[in-house]
Amino acid sequence: MTTLINRRRSVPVLVGSVGIGGDHPIAVQSMTNTDTADAAATAQQVRELAAAGSELVRITVNTEAAAAQVATIRRLLDDTGCAVPLIGDFHYNGHQLLRQYPECAAALAKYRINPGNVGFGRKKDAQFATMIAIARDADKPVRIGVNWGSLDQELLARLLDDNARSPSPKDLRDVTREALVTSALSSAARAEELGLPRDHIVLSCKVSGVQDLIAVYQDLAGRCDHALHLGLTEAGMGSKGIVASTAGMGYLLLQGIGDTIRVSLTPEPGSSRTKEVIVAQEMLQTLGLRAFVPLVTSCPGCGRTTSVFFQQLAAEIQDYVRRQMPLWQQRYPGAETLTLAVMGCVVNGPGESRHANIGISLPGKGEAPVAPVFIDGEKVTTLRGDDMADEFKRIIDDYVARRYGGAFARPARQGLA
Ligand code: SF4
Repeated sequence: MTTLINRRRSVPVLVGSVGIGGDHPIAVQSMTNTDTADAAATAQQVRELAAAGSELVRITVNTEAAAAQVATIRRLLDDTGCAVPLIGDFHYNGHQLLRQYPECAAALAKYRINPGNVGFGRKKDAQFATMIAIARDADKPVRIGVNWGSLDQELLARLLDDNARSPSPKDLRDVTREALVTSALSSAARAEELGLPRDHIVLSCKVSGVQDLIAVYQDLAGRCDHALHLGLTEAGMGSKGIVASTAGMGYLLLQGIGDTIRVSLTPEPGSSRTKEVIVAQEMLQTLGLRAFVPLVTSCPGCGRTTSVFFQQLAAEIQDYVRRQMPLWQQRYPGAETLTLAVMGCVVNGPGESRHANIGISLPGKGEAPVAPVFIDGEKVTTLRGDDMADEFKRIIDDYVARRYGGAFARPARQGLA
């Protein structure tokens, strides 16, 4: 895929079988919301997230009961052919759990350590050192993940004191941003002193405000070459969470900042956890950074559209190509870069359809009840009648087989380019 974006150079980190940073593609992560102590439920959700395209899945490891089940979760996944690396999310007691449950430490591909939640007072440094030593000895990478909501309060207090003595003090927000970056960088430096190799360290500094996210990551990216995990924490629910995540992460990704991402959506009641994976993929694909599944360009519709058929067709085609993708991935490599257009009328329909690999322009109000189909810029056929959706899917299938088929290619259908 051609891109105008120069990615920041970062030290690559191997997490299980998945590379982060360096020349590796930007990786999509997600996190379960099951009780990790319930191994069957957690393994099932990990499978769903991985099937949706999550390349790394994080699980919380918060109690002894949870730590005791991590190896079982790994085994349940392996037994069903799901090799997605698991990341353990630790707070407060990670040093104890990793030490007491070595099979948990071994089953995880990476440990997430929050320097603000690793312990308090004099115990903090020792507990951080314990976790780093376990990672070092087990050859596991860590993510040092600082969070606005759990920032190291001693560090913040020290920076605020320094700031108060400064002849030109900064405002509280700037000092807090500096504290986030300092916490991540100083923790990474300490981890290296403790013997964890540089290529075993990923950093993140998550905040919940878009402008804070941009400022913090621009600063962090300029001050280190560690691989960076990008995410807006507590992004919110529904369209609010999607817009906030895309605005903040999209801006940074277009500047080449970010080696792995997670979209932290609050799931709507009853909705699938996999939504965060689809949003992350669509964000990267829309920015032209990766391709996962053919995306359908469709117009919003207006008074010229005659019925909901146009909306139904756009949704049906997007759903169809997403469902086909696991098969296409195996048989037709490159099919994920296919572009499709479903347009509502003749005003922009033929023009937009010509820009896509395959486009259809449906009849608007007052137009003849026919739908011209364009392939690679040329009009190849006209569809009409009740079978339009199935016929369009057959055209897509034929095109994918011909263009991406290689050894599997079937002959082109008559009448198609
Ligand atoms: S392409 Fe036609 S139906 Fe779609 S928004 Fe434009 S004018 Fe309306």
